[in-house]
Amino acid sequence: AIAPPVTVPNLNEISLPSGLILLDGRLVEPLRPDRTIAAIDPATGGTIMHFHACGVEDVNRAVEAAQRCYESDAWQGMRPIDRGRLLERLALLVERDREELARLESLDSGKLLAVTNAIDLQFTIDGLRYFAGWASKIAGEYVSHSPLVPEPAIYRAYTQRRPVGVVAGITPWNFPIGQAIQKIAPAIAFGCTVVLKPSEETSLSTLRLGELIVEAGFPAGAVNIVTGYGAEVGAALVDHPLVRKIAFTGSTATGQRIMEAAARSMKRVTLELGGKSPAIVLPDADLERAIPGVAGAIFANSGQICTAGSRLLVHASIFDEVLAGVCRIASEIKLGSPFDAQTQMGPLISARQRDRVAGLVAQGLDEGASALSGGTAPERDGWFYAPTVLGGVERDMTVMREEIFGPVVCAVRYDDVADAVRIANDTPFGLAASIWTRDIDRAHLLADRIDAGTVWLNTHNVLDLAMPFGGNKLSGVGREFGSEAMQAFTEPKAVCMRL
Ligand code: NAD
Repeated sequence: AIAPPVTVPNLNEISLPSGLILLDGRLVEPLRPDRTIAAIDPATGGTIMHFHACGVEDVNRAVEAAQRCYESDAWQGMRPIDRGRLLERLALLVERDREELARLESLDSGKLLAVTNAIDLQFTIDGLRYFAGWASKIAGEYVSHSPLVPEPAIYRAYTQRRPVGVVAGITPWNFPIGQAIQKIAPAIAFGCTVVLKPSEETSLSTLRLGELIVEAGFPAGAVNIVTGYGAEVGAALVDHPLVRKIAFTGSTATGQRIMEAAARSMKRVTLELGGKSPAIVLPDADLERAIPGVAGAIFANSGQICTAGSRLLVHASIFDEVLAGVCRIASEIKLGSPFDAQTQMGPLISARQRDRVAGLVAQGLDEGASALSGGTAPERDGWFYAPTVLGGVERDMTVMREEIFGPVVCAVRYDDVADAVRIANDTPFGLAASIWTRDIDRAHLLADRIDAGTVWLNTHNVLDLAMPFGGNKLSGVGREFGSEAMQAFTEPKAVCMRL
């Protein structure tokens, strides 16, 4: 049922996945194999291959397999260190196939090959190893208590952290394989089983991962992968009574829908959602670092990073100099094929996303903003959009309020630092921020005042698996990574005994 691939660049160097879904330990066709989705190369608009659009029945089979595995004596009795070894084995296989996976990811997503290899694949391998280590470090507490009974001294209590159960992982298209591991690795490490649904825009690397999971010898049902549409497969996962937790990364609108649906059955949720993160440049910043830093904060990955520095707040005394520098970088960025080593920015993920970005910029210009650089979609195949700097923006403009998720930054001039903090926090989002200054004391004091899950000082978009990651306000609920991941994938259980 998988259509043969149509011609795309470098296809002979790229090993495509079979397209089969991972269900109960086996790579299989879904019940309705005739329903497929085209995987599109965003750099050319060409079709790479077709993969399956699963239905509700496939979701049911996947969740039931995950539940069977979860309840099995083998899974419950598996030593934590051996769950960690499953992740370590998968890390070795990803490492073995790293170049091939990077090419597949770049083809399917338009991400620059060099960056995909250096960042996305490294993050995937590191993420597997990081969480492999956590599997054997799950710990509860001994509780010192005084129960209201005649002989309190003969009572003892302790807590355990028990796995939450079957987890549904739902991922977006901007970091496909990394996001898949961000859900799978902690779920397995903390003793859950998982059903993963990748974005319908970028399912190929996750399908390859499924093949490697089989090769790594994971127990049947521990990890299941179903592809398909969000409104069908994603929604069925969210509604399934055996799913105990949703680990979701994606847009705020979908996150809100998921939280509402999850409330009906009190499913646990971790929601990593959108952002409108400020990059704040103080008058004493080292501009040689700050200018490329804030430009990279928005233009990396074509602006398709949830923490992108999409609002640039610059002190009036250096505004013109910073803007000139950022506009020069924007105008010199070379757009092109993700496989060309000279390319500095690839396409956006889809025609729809390119049109959305273009529409938001047009609306900004209508509302009175001006394009200091870019503001156009180049005439060429693929879904490209020029790096864009908007000036003359006001707080109520749509470009200032909404996440654009493209290479578009809104530049704002402020007069004093108190203003900068007020503007930075004047957004429904609260994912991240960066502060650029040589005065490190002031940087720390300002960091306290920013309402966001992550604040970077003199850098931006640096993720560390040991640091909790997530957002405040409309940017989400809960945190991933670090010790917070243990809270997210386990439930505390109190055990009380009478001696
Ligand atoms: P999206 O919300 O459209 O889709 C994300 C996933 O949800 C996809 O797999 C999709 O199929 C699925 N989905 C869609 N409707 C659903 C439904 N009703 N029920 C269940 N699942 C459903 O997001 P996107 O466009 O793929 O990704 C871009 C967004 O992701 C941006 O807003 C970005 O900021 C955000 N993002 C956030 C983080 C973070 O960690 N905070 C990281 C990356 C991306």
